[in-house]
Amino acid sequence: MAETVHSPIVTYASMLSLLAFCPPFVILLWYAMVHQDGSVTQTFGFFWENGVQGLINIWPRPTLIAWEIIFCYGAFEAALQLLLPGKRVEGPISPAGNRPVYKANGVAAYFVTLATYLGLWWFGIFNPAIVYDHLGEIFSALIFGSFIFCVLLYIKGHVAPSSNDSGSCGNLIIDFYWGMELYPRIGKNFDIKVFTNCRFGMMSWAVLAVTYCIKQYEINGKVSDSMLVNTILMLVYVTKFFWWEAGYWNTMDIAHDRAGFYICWGCLVWVPSVYTSPGMYLVNHPVELGTQLAIYILVAGILCIYINYDCDRQRQEFRRTNGKCLVWGRAPSKIVASYTTTSGETKTSLLLTSGWWGLARHFHYVPEILSAFFWTVPALFDNFLAYFYVIFLTILLFDRAKRDDDRCRSKYGKYWKLYCEKVKYRIIPGIY
Ligand code: NDP
Repeated sequence: MAETVHSPIVTYASMLSLLAFCPPFVILLWYAMVHQDGSVTQTFGFFWENGVQGLINIWPRPTLIAWEIIFCYGAFEAALQLLLPGKRVEGPISPAGNRPVYKANGVAAYFVTLATYLGLWWFGIFNPAIVYDHLGEIFSALIFGSFIFCVLLYIKGHVAPSSNDSGSCGNLIIDFYWGMELYPRIGKNFDIKVFTNCRFGMMSWAVLAVTYCIKQYEINGKVSDSMLVNTILMLVYVTKFFWWEAGYWNTMDIAHDRAGFYICWGCLVWVPSVYTSPGMYLVNHPVELGTQLAIYILVAGILCIYINYDCDRQRQEFRRTNGKCLVWGRAPSKIVASYTTTSGETKTSLLLTSGWWGLARHFHYVPEILSAFFWTVPALFDNFLAYFYVIFLTILLFDRAKRDDDRCRSKYGKYWKLYCEKVKYRIIPGIY
């Protein structure tokens, strides 16, 4: 049964509005960044004059070259996921009591991808600037292609689920939106969520960051320091992600959110288009920050990415060692919580109440949001739209903290209450 945190009416309204508005928004954001100087007023003015017909006119049709780029990239990433060697890693026990098994080859896939992409450019085989030149068509193809992909996932959930961590809530829209299967696979080894979330979505973030940098170089004959700071920080963030990929397989995205429109369409379309948007903006808006300011922003960004990494690492190390580790140089303080799986088994789990996890229950979202701020701030403050991702991320993570709290409360009951008494704040210590 798909759980809904908000009231049914809010759930339906938000689902239907996301389904209806996200696709046009992706095109609008691209159009505003690339063709309207990242200006909200200019873009609004265009639509004031041209109405809905204006949106239809600017909506790029998916072209053959766009499909070719997406197909080559997707096939390459799928091949790397299947063929590169990697350690066998077990995921957390699922609600139905299963334990998914993965091949941890994300770091290798990441470096092979970037080396291949830069190699193709260096040897004059493929110019990444072409990707930027066809970006609108690529996003348009991704919007339609990923929608069909989600329909196929929905059908697979009904006719051929990969495990018993699957099911319908009896409502077509909720099933399509939240998904039916927790761990859909093709065959035994090809995990669909690892592909959509990590190898397609997160990888596209790094590939597009490099693309934007190369495009700016092609236009101006040099790369501005603002673009360099933005690209380096986004690459450090994505490198951190792949370094920690096996840890990501323990998080809400993989262990709790089913494979539906929300997570899969989000990773296939929203990540490449919206998450990369500060870099997309900078292509045509180079800012010279000066070495000193550039270095300050870079160092602050790297520090935030490190703290975010350390929060995730601390929780996972604590769980991996069953609490027998040091947290900030001391034995960790913890709550031993028991819960019941959907198959009726009683299990125990440890909740860390010291270190980063003693500051607030979701403190790790603070450095996550600040990292995004630091790779956007090189654009300075001429256009608000460059900050869209930071604002979106803040709303997403505040909502996610609530969803996670509610889920943990129903999973752990009195133990979660105890945790909330010990660690009072949800995200920002002393404030919220
Ligand atoms: P996590 O899954 O890492 O953490 C939440 C889970 O951890 C809970 O569901 C619970 O799961 C367990 N847990 C909660 N409290 C404790 C505790 N005190 N001790 C031990 N375990 C605990 O969170 P997220 O998936 O939200 O975040 C993972 C990373 O991804 C973060 O770095 C985050 O910033 C990043 N992120 C980035 C996003 C983006 O769009 N850029 C979006 C979302 C996340 P259990 O059932 O196992 O107890």
